Amino acid sequence: MKTHVRVAVIGGGVVGCSVLYHLTKAGWKDVVLLERDQLTSGSTWHAAGGFHTLNGDPNVAKLQGYTIGLYDELEKISGESCGLHRSGGLLLADTKERMEWLKMAHARARYLGLETELLTMPEAKALLPLLEEQYFVGAMLDAADGNLDPYGTTHAYAKSARIGGAEIYLHTRVTGLKRRGDGTWDVSTDKGSINAEHVVNAGGLWAREVGRMVGLELPVLAMEHMYLVTDDMPEVIEFNREHGHELPHAIDFKSEIYMRQEHQGIVLGTYERACVPWQPHVTPWDFGAQLLEPDLDRIAPSLELGFKHFPAMAKAGIKRVINGPFTFSPDGNPLVGPVQGLPGFWCACAVMAGFSQGGGVGLALSQWMVNGDPGFDVWAMDVARYGEWATRSYTNEKVRENYSRRFSIRFPNEELPAARPQQTTALYDVMLAQGAVMGDSWGLETPLWFAPKGVEPKDVISFHRSNDFPHIKAECLGVRSTVGLTEIANFAKYEIVGEGAEAYLAKLMTNRMPVPGRIVLTPMLNRQGKLIGDFTIACAGPGRYLMWGSSQAQIYHMRWFEAHLPPDGSVRLHRFDLGLVGISIAGPHSRELLSRLTDEDVSSKGFRFLDHRSMDVANCPAIVNRVTYTGDLGYEIWVAPEYQRGLYDRICAAGRDLGLIHFGMRALLCLRLEKNFPTWFRELRPIYGAFEAGLDRFVDLSKPDFIGRDAALAEKASGGSLRRISLAVDALDADVLGDEPIWHQGKVIGWATSGGYGHCVERSLAQGYVPASLAQDTRAGAFEVEILGERRAATILAEPPFDASGSRMRG
Ligand SMILES: Cc1cc2nc3c(=O)[nH]c(=O)nc-3n(C[C@H](O)[C@H](O)[C@H](O)COP(=O)(O)OP(=O)(O)OC[C@H]3O[C@@H](n4cnc5c(N)ncnc54)[C@H](O)[C@@H]3O)c2cc1C
Repeated sequence: MKTHVRVAVIGGGVVGCSVLYHLTKAGWKDVVLLERDQLTSGSTWHAAGGFHTLNGDPNVAKLQGYTIGLYDELEKISGESCGLHRSGGLLLADTKERMEWLKMAHARARYLGLETELLTMPEAKALLPLLEEQYFVGAMLDAADGNLDPYGTTHAYAKSARIGGAEIYLHTRVTGLKRRGDGTWDVSTDKGSINAEHVVNAGGLWAREVGRMVGLELPVLAMEHMYLVTDDMPEVIEFNREHGHELPHAIDFKSEIYMRQEHQGIVLGTYERACVPWQPHVTPWDFGAQLLEPDLDRIAPSLELGFKHFPAMAKAGIKRVINGPFTFSPDGNPLVGPVQGLPGFWCACAVMAGFSQGGGVGLALSQWMVNGDPGFDVWAMDVARYGEWATRSYTNEKVRENYSRRFSIRFPNEELPAARPQQTTALYDVMLAQGAVMGDSWGLETPLWFAPKGVEPKDVISFHRSNDFPHIKAECLGVRSTVGLTEIANFAKYEIVGEGAEAYLAKLMTNRMPVPGRIVLTPMLNRQGKLIGDFTIACAGPGRYLMWGSSQAQIYHMRWFEAHLPPDGSVRLHRFDLGLVGISIAGPHSRELLSRLTDEDVSSKGFRFLDHRSMDVANCPAIVNRVTYTGDLGYEIWVAPEYQRGLYDRICAAGRDLGLIHFGMRALLCLRLEKNFPTWFRELRPIYGAFEAGLDRFVDLSKPDFIGRDAALAEKASGGSLRRISLAVDALDADVLGDEPIWHQGKVIGWATSGGYGHCVERSLAQGYVPASLAQDTRAGAFEVEILGERRAATILAEPPFDASGSRMRG
């Protein structure tokens, strides 16, 4: 065994082997894999081996497409068979809503370059005669679906990695991890110790235990999962004889089963509602080649329905039932990437679909390690998307919810109930009393919209405009005509202090840093010039800056900030989290309202747009920023949490005769659309450059040095390949949500990133990206956006439809 390596990968399941292979492919040869037992001896050996491209997140879907495409390459390099069956798959819709969902998935597949086709039921029946047509309304064919041999595939990765220079140590259990002063890791095993520059946790069923070796409690939990294999079936034999090929895979969303051919029988698995976590506290180290006791009663409701939908199955004998555990994160997507606060410690865990996702995870992680960046948008599987609120019991509740909803539709306006409320502010009860419908924002309850008296505060879930529509309209009009109040505790807030603070921020951000009392808006770029952040920064005094950003990205950003702190201690960084909470007031009467609560001069000259000041507001020591995301006149008022309730009460009392209304996040997002403002994680993501996103005025290329400057210069010179556009859409009763294809002259040329209704401008609005060369085509109806399977005409808005001159915001 080597004593020093560049990378030690812990875990020889399909994911660890993929990471190892991709590291060698990226050029790192001094890499080893440590496996407690044999390769595949976690969840991998008993997998059903199915693969597909379907995923709620388009970027993960793309990575799944990559994984599936990789198997031919692996077979070629290794000479090992992956046991591939590329039989295609049918997704069967039983309701209008499920069909709409499939239409959306099909539309999205167009711009992802994935091959799908919508089918009528007779067409689906011709492909899969086992089904009973009357239970379904339509289907989608996914050509990339198939299945493989988990053992052969894992060995194909492993052999390809060995050919690339990697070494694999079997029967070598990692027992401890210790970070040295030089930043490297001492990896203790039962066969001796290795010093590694990087460690990858690909521990699968033991990922939690490996995490605990470095003091991490990763949000990951294993669930029991059952599938059964039937005896050979005459219907399958007949189909194979007649057609000369296998039956396609199928997912029946109604009965929550997936199925595929195996030999001349069928494999049938289900994600049951009455699901059961496995080893919720500690995974025993001696678990390996065992299976769990099957419990057919638990999956009986799905089987009964499935047998009705596929009657031939009811007659088939059951050859074996497999019950095995595999791991999930709270949202079902993997946990990948470097861990904040633990340089050199990487995760490749919670991969619930190792044969759809393992290749993509390996590719992303290897590029991240070798180049400092995953190379594409991996946010949906970034380990940084969870904060400290994702505790073990939270994870348990959420994973069970996710597992039992595996084949359920998640509607765009649907908030899932498990493990809520997790975090609340002092305003939680009063907001509920005001009729608030709450949403989960990075673990924090946040008002989405307010039901007036007599209206039930509850969303009717739908892909179309729903019951909140008239109420959000009232909120938007209220803001634009009088003054509105909204809670903004969910923003991320940071303090950067020290003699090196200005230089540090100037190096990280594209804009110049503000002078004391002023605010700047600024993107943050990676070395490749792609957007990795978008912040509001205020200078509170010499060497002291306050900064606001996206709540969901707090750990993601802290990871980057910490990695770039100067080693001399001249900069101190602090994340407030809920130690600083806020209320925003916005609308034409907001100045009058603020003036009633403070004796400071808040006149248009005394407190200008983008001014920042500490002042007493409603008796509370507050920080006030003259900014608002509504694009109207407005202020953000920030206080310590113990003042928030008093601040709120006094704002309400002072605003009553000004027509003060409450508004929620959904109204805020509509209002910003009327101003063409982009949003982090929708329009602003690490696949776009600052100029492509139209953030030119926040990039100061005259600054001598900032991260990504060279790439930004090159992008400015070339014009970039994409351009963010704002569109007015001829929508019917459904607005753009995001991820719809944008058409131009009969071709898909781009995608929408977000949309909604502009209540004050009375138009359906959207934003998205198209090739830069088409962004000047302002002809009416020059574009189309495909909403729920229908192409709706869309026109570029060269200017914001509301207050194009910005006079309301700046006045
Ligand atoms: C019944 C069932 C059906 C499934 N069907 C499918 C399917 O059809 N398609 C699909 O894509 N996925 C399926 N899966 C899921 C799939 O099995 C997982 O996604 C995949 O196995 C995850 O691989 P992994 O490498 O992350 O974890 P694991 O396979 O658990 O591998 C982790 C490895 O790490 C080793 N290890 C852990 N800790 C240490 C340590 N301290 N030192 C050394 N070694 C260590 C373990 O021994 C193990 O070999 C199914 C799972 C089950 C249970």
